[in-house]
Amino acid sequence: MFAVLLDIHVIADKYVVTALRDHALKDIKDILTRGNYGQDIPACLSDAIEAYYGAATGLSSDLGDFLVAILLEQQQDFTNSDAFDALIQSYPQLAVDLTMSQKQAGWLNTYRVVCPQSDCRFVQPLQAKRLQKQCLTSAYCQRCGLYYRFSDVLKIN
Ligand SMILES: [Zn+2]
Repeated sequence: MFAVLLDIHVIADKYVVTALRDHALKDIKDILTRGNYGQDIPACLSDAIEAYYGAATGLSSDLGDFLVAILLEQQQDFTNSDAFDALIQSYPQLAVDLTMSQKQAGWLNTYRVVCPQSDCRFVQPLQAKRLQKQCLTSAYCQRCGLYYRFSDVLKIN
């Protein structure tokens, strides 16, 4: 049943049958978020990635955006699996979409933090988003162990 929905979505998307595409998309989203009809969500995700990225034009679409969002926000067990690694290698556009989504969310912005200890000067990158979310104001140097405040050393690149 899920595979049929995916086929309907791919065909309706290709031939711009908008109402049918949107209806299939709604059902696909319901299954992937709630496991409706007793469907196995990781297996459905795998099928959806293969169907979407196997037919993808390289342009982003609502289904592609949805797949990336659900992978990053709700499916950590799946994204930590070897099966997911294999999907990324099979569908490079999936890797591009995941990376662009992370970049747009600010997760790839980093600060270069330089240890203030004059004989150390170890440089460590810190994710800007992580600093924000965790309200981090200080750290231990990974090399010399000095405890320092970011406000004293922060270099923004
Ligand atoms: Zn240091």
